[in-house]
Amino acid sequence: MTKHIFVTGGVVSSLGKGLTSASIAMLLEARGLRVKMQKLDPYINVDPGTMSPYQHGEVYVLDDGSETDLDLGHYERFTTTHLTRQSNYTTGQIYQAVINKERRGEFLGKTVQVIPHITNEIKEMVTQLDDADTDVVMTEIGGTVGDIESLPFLEAIRQIPLEVGRENCIFIHLTLVPYLKAAGELKTKPTQHSVGILRQIGIQPDVLVCRTERSLDTSDREKIALFCNVPLNSVIEERDKDFSIYEVPLSLQANKIDDLILKRLGLPASPANLDGWHEILHRLRNPEHEVSIALVGKYAEHRDAYKSIYEALDHGGIANQTQVRVQPIKSEAIEEEGAERLLAGFDALIVPGGFGERGIEGKVQAIRYARERNLPFLGICLGMQCAVIDFARHAAGMSDAHSTEFFRDTSAPVICLMEEQEGVTDKGGTMRLGSQPAKLTPGSRAAAAYGCLEINERHRHRYEFNSGYRQPLEQAGLLIAGTSPDESLVEIVEVPDHPWFVAVQFHPEFKSKPTAAHPLFAGLVAAAITHHTSSKPANPS
Ligand code: GLN
Repeated sequence: MTKHIFVTGGVVSSLGKGLTSASIAMLLEARGLRVKMQKLDPYINVDPGTMSPYQHGEVYVLDDGSETDLDLGHYERFTTTHLTRQSNYTTGQIYQAVINKERRGEFLGKTVQVIPHITNEIKEMVTQLDDADTDVVMTEIGGTVGDIESLPFLEAIRQIPLEVGRENCIFIHLTLVPYLKAAGELKTKPTQHSVGILRQIGIQPDVLVCRTERSLDTSDREKIALFCNVPLNSVIEERDKDFSIYEVPLSLQANKIDDLILKRLGLPASPANLDGWHEILHRLRNPEHEVSIALVGKYAEHRDAYKSIYEALDHGGIANQTQVRVQPIKSEAIEEEGAERLLAGFDALIVPGGFGERGIEGKVQAIRYARERNLPFLGICLGMQCAVIDFARHAAGMSDAHSTEFFRDTSAPVICLMEEQEGVTDKGGTMRLGSQPAKLTPGSRAAAAYGCLEINERHRHRYEFNSGYRQPLEQAGLLIAGTSPDESLVEIVEVPDHPWFVAVQFHPEFKSKPTAAHPLFAGLVAAAITHHTSSKPANPS
């Protein structure tokens, strides 16, 4: 029988529900359980694919091509759970499904209502994950308890225990216990109110995970337990972690959350094996090198827009036992102040994916600087397309080279709309999305990094390297280091007489894990270390 864990959040948003859910799932896996994860988002967009990164942060792409919430990135980085389209639902999708049923006449004669039709659809989305190979389904409810729009989700998860048995469900509520400087104490009232709202809806949380900047003392915990109607051992402290998010699972384990959940759900418990996780933290705490990497992007100041890239760079650091400092630089600043001024002193450059013309010339200038100054470079998606533009303009003499995304009438459209995209007018879910196979060129840096010649990587783009320009660009020295299996699409380009210049049409950051850094990120950091060491003046002694 599959058990259910529901995670809700209270008091404020941005408490780290995704991270906490992923950490708990990781601990359960470490105890030998098979866990599936899912997030339910209360907004009306069908998926985050059409939202601005300012609104939503990065769009996390799964193997099956679904465009999902960035919390799913935490799920994949922390656990081995296999995520699919069934792992992220929004209010928009739920209503769309119900309205489609109504149009097909499936509710004939009935008035279609939030309860029971919308809530039934939500319950179906949750319980469809139950199967004989799954011990636990963990469902995170987006938003904050008390929001109008999350009510149907909360009502649906209230009903699930009635169907599958209360003993097979556990409600975990993540809450904030703020410290008031003026009073010199932690305050439990916001938590009491937030649990109060949940109880009005009919949900009595079983476990309270308390985000706090200071340690809860016994009296704080007793107060929370009494007022929120939970046993004392179910008030779990989750202190802020200044050093690394990878400390979170270990701190939750120190507070025995895994024991509590296993006991409550009556699941067999094998001892936790967390050696791999301890090793990650050991490496993070004892770096042998330090490198600084410039990230040049349109949303540079907005970390969440490049969430998985920051994480993957950390993983590259873990793999090389190196502290990676990432400095975001707005691509428009490069246009104003010049690459020379802003990129001097860095050990590597990364240019991530993106859309729209703003800042494009800054990216091209930054890449040109990296190419001409032997600065290690990794270009991702739009970053790869800008690398091709730079190479065409400045190494192959096509001064007008551009992408037709930004300059339709360029005389050298080195990046152009993919054939399959012609005539596509809908914006949602219509890009080339998800995992696609590619083959690598023997002898390329990519082949060396991956250690194989066949790969699968996740995509999200409409434009591509224009194959009509393959020959002149190759002649000018660009290496086509990876293509689709039929060779029709260019997936990777490299500059061979450069220490590390690799640009890829796909998004390697989505497949990097702290325990298994993506080879291209590990490779970039390794090249950055070499750059750092060789650019330092020799020690006179
Ligand atoms: N805008 C480019 C395209 O659609 C790049 C997309 C991206 O970087 N994800 O092809």
